[in-house]
Amino acid sequence: MVMRGRYRVVSLLCLCQYVVSLQYNTQVPFHKKLIDNRMLCLKKQGERSPPLSQLMQQQDDPEWAALDCDLWLSRNEQGIQTSHYRFRYLSYPAMLQRMRALELLYPDMVRLYSAQDDFGLPSAGKCSEEEGVEKNQPCKVWVMEVGNMQARTEETPRLFFSGALHGDERIGPTALLELVSFLLGTYAVDPWARIMLDSRVLVLIPAANAVGYQESKRDELGVDPNRDFAFDTSSSRCMQSVAARSVNEVWRRNIFSLAVTFHGGDNLIAHPWGDTKHCPGYPGRCQAREGMLSSWISPDHTAMLILSKYASDFAGPLPTGRMEKFRFGPLNDPRVIYPVGGGMEDWAYGASWAPGGVNCLPS
Ligand SMILES: [Zn+2]
Repeated sequence: MVMRGRYRVVSLLCLCQYVVSLQYNTQVPFHKKLIDNRMLCLKKQGERSPPLSQLMQQQDDPEWAALDCDLWLSRNEQGIQTSHYRFRYLSYPAMLQRMRALELLYPDMVRLYSAQDDFGLPSAGKCSEEEGVEKNQPCKVWVMEVGNMQARTEETPRLFFSGALHGDERIGPTALLELVSFLLGTYAVDPWARIMLDSRVLVLIPAANAVGYQESKRDELGVDPNRDFAFDTSSSRCMQSVAARSVNEVWRRNIFSLAVTFHGGDNLIAHPWGDTKHCPGYPGRCQAREGMLSSWISPDHTAMLILSKYASDFAGPLPTGRMEKFRFGPLNDPRVIYPVGGGMEDWAYGASWAPGGVNCLPS
């Protein structure tokens, strides 16, 4: 792989079970606006949830008249349950349809391409591009660039988001497409969304492990994509999966300031270090031991910790009834999660400058 200089990237891992449930939290203005938008759309459609009807205070505000309610409501297949909105996980064809619809609706904001078409990468299997149709198309790793193309310059910061490196951890594609649907749908009326899309480029790979996502399997043809990055691994055991190679190519094309990757199965937001080099004494696993805490502290620990804490606070209590939030901290801290070799987060953060970077020469 080719490195373009040495630079550090804020790199966060988000493990989520509940990100598809947006809690109504009036203490967070952005939350309130997001939920109010949906409320207005539901009202337009003639639906109303009695437990939430009292929240519809801004329902007649003309500011929201321009909302793209079709997009809002298309994701509301399961309706409102208690105080949360529950979205159905998108299948591979539904994900692709949503991305194509967004590109059609917002041609000045969205560019969609695949790693196969743009980088000449192979496909790892057959996928279905339409619901209910047999799998007769090559599975492609789709990449979406989102942001105001007119306002973009060479200096516009680029942010990277990925989901479903593990194909059975299905929350990432839905979370990411809900995010960009929200930003695009409210761009015309929401100053915050406008700032985001005018001053950033969001580059998304919603389902990096396309064939795994189609089949709801963790690996890509027996390779774990999140052990396949050129950091803290051997030079012959990296970049074997189309998923990792796709991410790699996208990173060669862009200089990113921040990366967020979604996994599933737990509720935490973690950041480097997360490799097996920064946890001495326990090969493959770190333990919290007196005097060793600094071993998993990365040079940008404080910045990433602050961001993680903010994200955890912003998400608010999880809908478990126990008032717990997303826990956060370094990946190598056993109170948070565990280290791995070849993981994407440390590769993204440190492969261009830190010990652990690998000159990848897969066979
Ligand atoms: Zn995972």
